Amino acid sequence: MTLPLGIDFEFRKQIMDVHIGSDKIKYCYQCNRCTDNCPVASVANPFYHEVTNWFDPRLIVLGTLLGYKDIVMALAGSKSALIPWGCTVCDTCDAVCPQAIEVTEIIGLAKNITSGAGLAPDNIVAQAKTVFDTAKAIPSQPAIERRREQMGLPAVAAPNVNEVQTLLKNIGADKKL
Ligand code: SF4
Ligand code: SF4
Repeated sequence: MTLPLGIDFEFRKQIMDVHIGSDKIKYCYQCNRCTDNCPVASVANPFYHEVTNWFDPRLIVLGTLLGYKDIVMALAGSKSALIPWGCTVCDTCDAVCPQAIEVTEIIGLAKNITSGAGLAPDNIVAQAKTVFDTAKAIPSQPAIERRREQMGLPAVAAPNVNEVQTLLKNIGADKKL
């Protein structure tokens, strides 16, 4: 159900359900420690830098807690601090949060909901396709292989693409791609 204010209770419930058995996200008191320590936020802050996308984990927590689905799922390229795709999952925010809120879990779910709706940024979709097609995030290049040989390193074993594709198909990733 979506109210004129843009509050989506189903989205809010999905976020709450990430913490089944715990309602920790409710205890966020917006202290900003996650954002203060986030390496991405430190360089994606319009107060200090010319940036296209502003990244702010504290605001993502607030936006998801309030159920602002449309804002959190805004397409990459939109000017919104609540777009989750800047997160590198370094886990710093989880480590410093005084309320032990798993900020990365919240952001991960926001990413999953966004990609499930076909709103993931093109570069993310392209990277996922590469993993599906080659079973590697960064496919090996002849130059890399030559360099390894020069350094006396063994050749990198070829991954089992069928096995990886079966795993990805089991979670429906092929349909989303
Ligand atoms: S550090 Fe924790 S309590 Fe503070 S704003 Fe971030 S999520 Fe909320
Ligand atoms: S996990 Fe994401 S949001 Fe948290 S500090 Fe790292 S980059 Fe920032």
